[in-house]
Amino acid sequence: FRRIQPSSDELISGILKGDITALSRSITLVESTNTIHLAKANTVINTCLLHAAKSIRIGITGVPGVGKSTFIEAFGKYLTGLGKKVAVLAVDPSSTISHGSILGDKTRMEELVKDKNAYIRPSASGETLGGVARKTRETITLCEAAGFDVIVIETVGVGQSETAVHSMVDFFLLLKISGAGDELQGIKRGIMEMADAIIINKADGDNIKKAQFAKMEFNRALHLFPAKSSGWTPTTSTCSSITHEGIPIVWETIEKFLDLTKGNKSFYSKRKEQNQYWMLETINEQLKANFYKQNEIQQLLESTKKAVQNDEISPFAAAQFLLEKYFK
Ligand code: GDP
Repeated sequence: FRRIQPSSDELISGILKGDITALSRSITLVESTNTIHLAKANTVINTCLLHAAKSIRIGITGVPGVGKSTFIEAFGKYLTGLGKKVAVLAVDPSSTISHGSILGDKTRMEELVKDKNAYIRPSASGETLGGVARKTRETITLCEAAGFDVIVIETVGVGQSETAVHSMVDFFLLLKISGAGDELQGIKRGIMEMADAIIINKADGDNIKKAQFAKMEFNRALHLFPAKSSGWTPTTSTCSSITHEGIPIVWETIEKFLDLTKGNKSFYSKRKEQNQYWMLETINEQLKANFYKQNEIQQLLESTKKAVQNDEISPFAAAQFLLEKYFK
């Protein structure tokens, strides 16, 4: 197996030709913890950056059960039907434990997985959200170089993963379902503020009226948020991922968003800001990982923790002590 490992040049030329095997192998390098693999991954990514196509990156979030997989399958099929190439990635830090709890089970997107214009890749696993998110971010670059027009990034509606995904996409979509008149309960304000569109899914059968009501409620709530710097006003709509009613509207909305934000250039400035954000995030993540990996720190950490616990040293002095050891 080792001997037939392709070189970075082979991987690059494969990716640029849209070869899925080369793409998958490169993503595996990105996800590796082996420093030789990572160096190779960096070479591939750096070249791919120059070839990043004109893609749109769409983040999708919503609580488990809201219908994310079903929606992505319907939406993805609609897009490949329009002749687009669609990549579906995921950011799910919990996959460290379950090894890919979202997208892990590919049968959840039965049709899309068979579509030759679609590529589905489960979440990287990693110890930290930062690590998982960084790998997904680099995977976006690879998929774009491989000619994918639409990159969908799914995340679960729990924890901090939305913020990470929001900072790597152009358009952020929040999936909801109608509840019994308590639409706005239990929804984190921060997530609503990030949304460029709120879609009420499962608007079919007996649920249509309730979904329309929920849409109105969300619309009202959205107006209470400050205007977005992109100039975009978030929209609300209903859809059914089963009947596919309302799916085309989602894409129309995104096209309007692209027209507006490319016109006023905020699309490009946001991507530049995101690049800077990811540089700083990567520094933070790697410094932290490196700190805890260092031998001396590992040796001193437990005893220093105990000293803090026993009030022998203040938490700040203890932190200072360890940091000085690290940076000396
Ligand atoms: P996820 O956990 O957010 O990925 O949700 P899934 O896509 O796995 O869907 C959860 C359940 O809701 C499944 O049983 C789906 O068949 C169902 N579901 C998803 N979308 C719709 C929809 O638009 N209408 C109806 N009636 N059921 C749906």
